[in-house]
Amino acid sequence: MSQAFDLIVIGAGSGGVRAARVAADLGARVAIIEQGPLGGTCVNLGCIPKKLFVYGAHFADEFEDAAGFGWQVPERSFDWPVLRDNTAKEISRLNGVYQGLLEGAGVEICLGTARLLHRKRVVVGTRELVGERILIATGSRAYLPDWPGREHAITSDDAFSLPHLPQRALVVGGGYIAVEFAGILARLGVETTLLYRGPLFLRGFDDGVRAFIARELARDGLRLCFQDTPKRIDKTSKGLRVETEGGKVLDTDLVLAATGRLPNTNGLGLENAGVELGGHGEIVVGQDFASNNVSNIYAIGDVINRVQLTPVAIAEGAWLANRLFGGAPPAAPDYARIATAVFCQPPIGTIGMTEREAREAYGDAVEVYESEFRPLKYTLTKNAERTFMKLVVRTSDDRVVGVHMAGADAGEIIQGFAVALTAGATKAQFDATMAVHPTSAEEFVTMRAPQNSARRSQ
Ligand code: FAD
Ligand code: NDP
Repeated sequence: MSQAFDLIVIGAGSGGVRAARVAADLGARVAIIEQGPLGGTCVNLGCIPKKLFVYGAHFADEFEDAAGFGWQVPERSFDWPVLRDNTAKEISRLNGVYQGLLEGAGVEICLGTARLLHRKRVVVGTRELVGERILIATGSRAYLPDWPGREHAITSDDAFSLPHLPQRALVVGGGYIAVEFAGILARLGVETTLLYRGPLFLRGFDDGVRAFIARELARDGLRLCFQDTPKRIDKTSKGLRVETEGGKVLDTDLVLAATGRLPNTNGLGLENAGVELGGHGEIVVGQDFASNNVSNIYAIGDVINRVQLTPVAIAEGAWLANRLFGGAPPAAPDYARIATAVFCQPPIGTIGMTEREAREAYGDAVEVYESEFRPLKYTLTKNAERTFMKLVVRTSDDRVVGVHMAGADAGEIIQGFAVALTAGATKAQFDATMAVHPTSAEEFVTMRAPQNSARRSQ
């Protein structure tokens, strides 16, 4: 006998869990189907374990910095299994937290792989569920290009459970994952090379930030190879050998492909329901997240391939559940101003338009304020890390349209400025804001002279 629900959610990741909980809180009968551990990519193979690894890697600097403040630091040594296994334990705890949250909201959890049989019917193992509405929140999976020998490469999924740290690593790609993992590996003592096919990595970020991060990472010992990409990967008696399109031969112990992610729609039975897919296998949805051609099937998060970030998937899930089962829905997710951080070293925090986007949109009616300096904390240390900050202002109405930072705590700092930008703050309001001293963040409210005014260059 099949069981009936108001909403069946496929995928208990960031977006699916939020949609299920909000819908159940609003009184809907909700089932959620998950084939892996609860919490999805973010909890199990993404944001959380990655950030714990970033914290772990950062201690490499902190021991050295401490010596400048008078601490006697014994010889450092790093034990990879401790970081890996403690991280795994924390994730198991979070899996339990997610289970508690779902059960507490009255959501029925159904473990297994879901497949659609029809626009309202879903099968999981031997069980059949009928849903008035079906929400697909199945996320994305790592994409590995078709290089000969690609079976020798790993993706970020495997990086969290490496049996041991390699001596040498080659990270391929120039996006979030490549830059973050190259930084983690390098700080944990792995001789790391980052290979990116374009002229400068982090495409889509502000050009000033991209150039600054390239300088910082190179200064820090990371080998950066741009304008090149693997041609083939071979196993050798001593490890792996990568031949590149540019004619380089790179010997390494590990190849980590961080070359993007594709929507998880394979094997879902979408053809049985008549759901249309886009060119990258994404579910094509309209403004209200209903699939283009089947009105009771919805999709959110990575599987729609708009913006692959946890807070975006959560915002989409919450909005949709409110719209379906609540009264008046809150404002639709705003894709124009998404704050984001790249947890490299130093980290990047950014919100709003890059200088290039602003100039394309507003021509000469743009002012740019920049600052680069050595943070106070490092003045007593041998740490040469610097901080870069940039404000992009539309002069027609004095609105700050972009805030960009690369420096210690950029992810934490940018969250507050994201509120200011969302509220429509002007440069005059930034200037009228009292500074918090001494901090790095105060620089954002004290930059007065436009364009390349390196006011604090110590
Ligand atoms: P997911 O969280 O991926 O959840 C989808 C779920 O669906 C999975 O649990 C999957 O097992 C399940 N599923 C799939 N198919 C089926 C099926 N047929 N039946 C049942 N279940 C199924 N974002 C940030 O904002 N900040 C970060 O720092 C960050 N770091 C990241 C680091 C890495 C290494 C990666 C890979 C991603 C990172 N992201 C980060 C992106 C973020 O993890 C995703 O954008 C987010 O998890 C998407 O949520 P989702 O709900 O769409 O999908
Ligand atoms: P990204 O889309 O950020 O980057 C993919 C990179 O791979 C790009 O540099 C791209 O180059 C390159 N690439 C794509 N195809 C090939 C190919 N065939 N050969 C060589 N290089 C190729 O994806 P990631 O995998 O880094 O991360 C996936 C998503 O997860 C991110 O976009 C982000 O949304 C999310 N994420 C967020 C994090 C955060 O918030 N801190 C951290 C990690 C992930 P090109 O630029 O030339 O296209």
